[in-house]
Amino acid sequence: MFPSLLVLYDSNVFVDEVHEVINALKHSFSVEINNIEEYNISLSAYNSSRDQYDGQKLLNILIDEQKLNFFLYILQNDLFVPNRNFVFGLGSKYYGAIVSFHRLDSIEMKIKESIHETAHIFGLGHCSDFCVMQYSNSLAEALQKPSTLCNACQAQLKENNKNFERNKD
Ligand SMILES: [Zn+2]
Ligand SMILES: [Zn+2]
Repeated sequence: MFPSLLVLYDSNVFVDEVHEVINALKHSFSVEINNIEEYNISLSAYNSSRDQYDGQKLLNILIDEQKLNFFLYILQNDLFVPNRNFVFGLGSKYYGAIVSFHRLDSIEMKIKESIHETAHIFGLGHCSDFCVMQYSNSLAEALQKPSTLCNACQAQLKENNKNFERNKD
């Protein structure tokens, strides 16, 4: 069992959708999600000339604040990283991840990208198979990938899970 995941959400995100995402995450990963908290976005990560939030800056702020908690932060604002016009989200292995609903219209897409970012937390990288861990450069690419992990990624996830167990002893 992975350690429990803290789910944070911005006040502009619908709470019903947060709960739908949480149900999907519990289904996709053997993870406990007991803590759900509203969290206001850090204005210091805002870039006014782009009218977007700096994803890496925001993620680093959260990693600093959350210390040993594994977290997923769901927000409505648009995210960018250097050399990319936008990103749906980003994650840091064994720390946490952020996901933006800004460019995602359907709950299916919100769930899909949340699963992708959460898998990064549990140590998965990008995958070139028919898999939720495919890297998406565009919304069209994100629409085409499935919301499930391929067999190889599922096996990797199980391996990573064992390491968590070992670290606990
Ligand atoms: Zn990714
Ligand atoms: Zn895969």
